Amino acid sequence: MSKYWNELTRSLDPYVPGEQPKDKEYIKLNANESAYAPSPKVLEAIKRAANEDLRMYPDANCYELRDTIAQYYGLKREQIFVGNGSDELLAFSFMAFFTQGKPILYPDITYSFYPVYSKLFKIDYKLIPLDEEFNIPVDPFLSENGGVIISNPNAPTAKDMPLESIQKILKYNLDKVVLVDEAYIDFGGESAVKLIDQYPNLLVMQTFSKSRCLAGLRVGFVMGQKDLIEGINRIKNSINSYTLDRAALAGAVEAIKDETYFQENRKRIIKTRERISKSLREIGFKVTDSKANFIFISHSSINADKIFAELKGKGILVRYFKIPRIDNFLRIGIGTDEEMDIFMKAIKEIV
Ligand code: PMP
Repeated sequence: MSKYWNELTRSLDPYVPGEQPKDKEYIKLNANESAYAPSPKVLEAIKRAANEDLRMYPDANCYELRDTIAQYYGLKREQIFVGNGSDELLAFSFMAFFTQGKPILYPDITYSFYPVYSKLFKIDYKLIPLDEEFNIPVDPFLSENGGVIISNPNAPTAKDMPLESIQKILKYNLDKVVLVDEAYIDFGGESAVKLIDQYPNLLVMQTFSKSRCLAGLRVGFVMGQKDLIEGINRIKNSINSYTLDRAALAGAVEAIKDETYFQENRKRIIKTRERISKSLREIGFKVTDSKANFIFISHSSINADKIFAELKGKGILVRYFKIPRIDNFLRIGIGTDEEMDIFMKAIKEIV
């Protein structure tokens, strides 16, 4: 606490990113980053962008990147908004759409940035409990609200929600924005993108940080009907017109274009995930049915915090959340096959 902080700053409960300790080399499975490097074509494009043009501002409208994404998903440029990671897009969306006065709805166990933004923007929220198996129930979302956020697949549970369920929520809430955060969709879930023309209240958010191996570039995008996209743009242009720099724009365009690399990358991660999930179940772990680039696991007789500490001692970082209902679970990012073999060896020693 500082006497210089205003009331808002004092009231905040900020997000805590996955740790990045520097004391030794770790196998880093704690931030759901990509195990693999970005496409070489992306790296070349970024290098090419480091030229004399850097003296000028980047394209505030991000036309080339928006056109590339639009073409990829069969949408129009006006239906795409791009920004500095989906975290920024979430912040803009909170500001643009969520009604003050009525609570917005999201699951009790989900991405922990949602409550952080709710507090920052003073938006009431109501947590919808996941069921015993960590599925997102539909009925509680069919009630009075100021907006809905669903992470599909959900984090940190890794489980997906069927598109029919999302459609039910969209249909009931036609006068409210339903934001579907698809950060992990490329690892097995079914995207709601195809519903955009049907539902004026739908926003679909994706990121380059996971399946496109570019967490360090900070690029995310939102897709939805023109009015919604315009709303986000009004917020952006009231805060910072240049949220994506020249290198990020160049790299992101190339990442969408290199479809072969993208497909190979997501497939090898899914393959490793399935192999590791099976091996963990064989040694007594409960592993949720993951559709993401991470798994969510628990052991009936060894506490998760103990496993977390022992793995860290062995140079492997995973994520542990000391919060009710999931305080005996670990979230483990899918690394390369070699990294996951080291992880399996370590966890076998622990159990
Ligand atoms: N949504 C979810 C569900 C996430 O897990 C993350 C990554 N921590 C994000 C959004 C943000 O991703 P980024 O800002 O890197 O696009």
